[in-house]
Amino acid sequence: QSKEKGKDRFTFFTRDMKTVSDDEAMVERELLRAIEQDQFFLVYQPQVSLRGQNVTGVEALVRWRHPDRGILSPAQFLPIVEKTNLAPVLGNIVIDKALAAARSWLDAGVDFGRISINVSPSHLASGSLLDHFTLAMNKHNIGADYITAEVLESVFLDEEGASHLSTLDALYRLGVHIELDDFGTGYASLSHVTSLKINGLKIDRSFTKQMLADPKKEAVVNHLVHLARSLDIKIVCEGVETDAQYQRLRMMGDFSIQGYLIARPMPFEQMNDWFCSTTQDVHFVV
Ligand code: C2E
Ligand code: MG
Ligand code: MG
Ligand code: MG
Repeated sequence: QSKEKGKDRFTFFTRDMKTVSDDEAMVERELLRAIEQDQFFLVYQPQVSLRGQNVTGVEALVRWRHPDRGILSPAQFLPIVEKTNLAPVLGNIVIDKALAAARSWLDAGVDFGRISINVSPSHLASGSLLDHFTLAMNKHNIGADYITAEVLESVFLDEEGASHLSTLDALYRLGVHIELDDFGTGYASLSHVTSLKINGLKIDRSFTKQMLADPKKEAVVNHLVHLARSLDIKIVCEGVETDAQYQRLRMMGDFSIQGYLIARPMPFEQMNDWFCSTTQDVHFVV
């Protein structure tokens, strides 16, 4: 099934092309034009604490405003971007836009916690990630204590794992928080938690989704919440959609949640409105 999906994504860009190299050249040209014409933008989704109900972070998620195809989600283009050499370029654009947003929230006195930026494996492998962060931090005058980098645990498993580690270590030493995204879907998860310098785990939304029906999934979530507490790292539970999920998580302790129950990802202007309307207290139905 995923093979089928991948094929669709590919044909999307390859319509009349004959050879793979032609395809790739065309994809790169289309991506390059999109970058030149500033067709990529970010939407933002808040993370809030279960008990305190304050905003602990905002995740930046990229979108492509495609001239013919409308607004595309990351699943429709990131796998292709990763195959070109434009991943670091797009990654840099995301960092720049995310820190610009953080700057305007700071200027407006909005307490957004940290801005969470998803870092792609190719950007991490490119050797330019650290520069991109430090240059954007200087440009927008944003300290590391306002930034989280979300990485997939899989980045530690490939052959470049060691160099990835040193880049992430450098970010960590700057004070940028490092969180493992989609936690629980990869391999060797628990050994990573104890051996890596990380500040938090984002529990994958498949656990949140299945938790109420499957006691084993719930046990894993509960275990991770307690493990995180004893290791003094943060938990963000992804994909909280229902009040029943919210109530169940609340029984486990106090940590951050993110999901449609709180808010859907939204454009910058709407995110500002959301901050204004919620001020200090996040009011959602409990
Ligand atoms: P992710 O980092 O795990 O981000 C969470 C995804 O779950 C987002 O999808 C978000 O819209 C979606 N989501 C949030 N709450 C809920 C919920 O309650 N229910 C459901 N069903 N979904 C929810 P999105 O925006 O389509 O992004 C998908 C993935 O693409 C992200 O997963 C991340 O891995 C990647 N991505 C997004 N933006 C960027 C980016 O700027 N750079 C990189 N490298 N990757 C990105
Ligand atoms: Mg993420
Ligand atoms: Mg995630
Ligand atoms: Mg995900």
